[in-house]
Amino acid sequence: MAIAVYPGSFDPVTKGHLDIIKRAARVNEKLIVAVLINSAKRPLFSVEERVAMLEECCKDIPNVTVASFDGLTVAFAKKNHATVMVRGLRAVSDFENELQLAQTNHALMPGIDTMFFATSIKWSYLSSTIVKESARYGSDVSKFVTPNVEKALHAKFRENYPKG
Ligand code: ADP
Repeated sequence: MAIAVYPGSFDPVTKGHLDIIKRAARVNEKLIVAVLINSAKRPLFSVEERVAMLEECCKDIPNVTVASFDGLTVAFAKKNHATVMVRGLRAVSDFENELQLAQTNHALMPGIDTMFFATSIKWSYLSSTIVKESARYGSDVSKFVTPNVEKALHAKFRENYPKG
């Protein structure tokens, strides 16, 4: 049982992420869900909004905390005494990039290992991008995200859909 970090953009957190969070929390002493600040991507939600949504979603899991970080993930992990990095694998297309990332992180900090979780079939197609695109065009996203995230998405896109 170790301290683990689950890093990502979480823009926004989906039920696919939450499935990984619950499973990773079960096999680690403590799980820190960490929102990356300096992502190359232009996020829809601010870091503060993403952290707040995650905190609401994880409030009933006692060994999960939420944080944000800037810079190298391994440096954040080391600072928090974490020895495990959690990542989810959805499809073969995720594999190449994730393998490279895990190997780089291990080379940078040999004390840290990556723990991969195979996505549940139920959420294998799901990504934050798909959720945002669906919400942008007015689709019901309640199947993909929790009610607080659904509300936040509708608030973001309200100007596009004043009656929605
Ligand atoms: P990043 O920009 O770091 O990929 P994401 O928020 O998109 O950030 O994803 C963070 C992690 O969660 C990644 O390991 C990703 O593979 C995993 N993940 C994303 N969506 C799902 C899903 N539907 N099922 C399982 N894992 C997922």
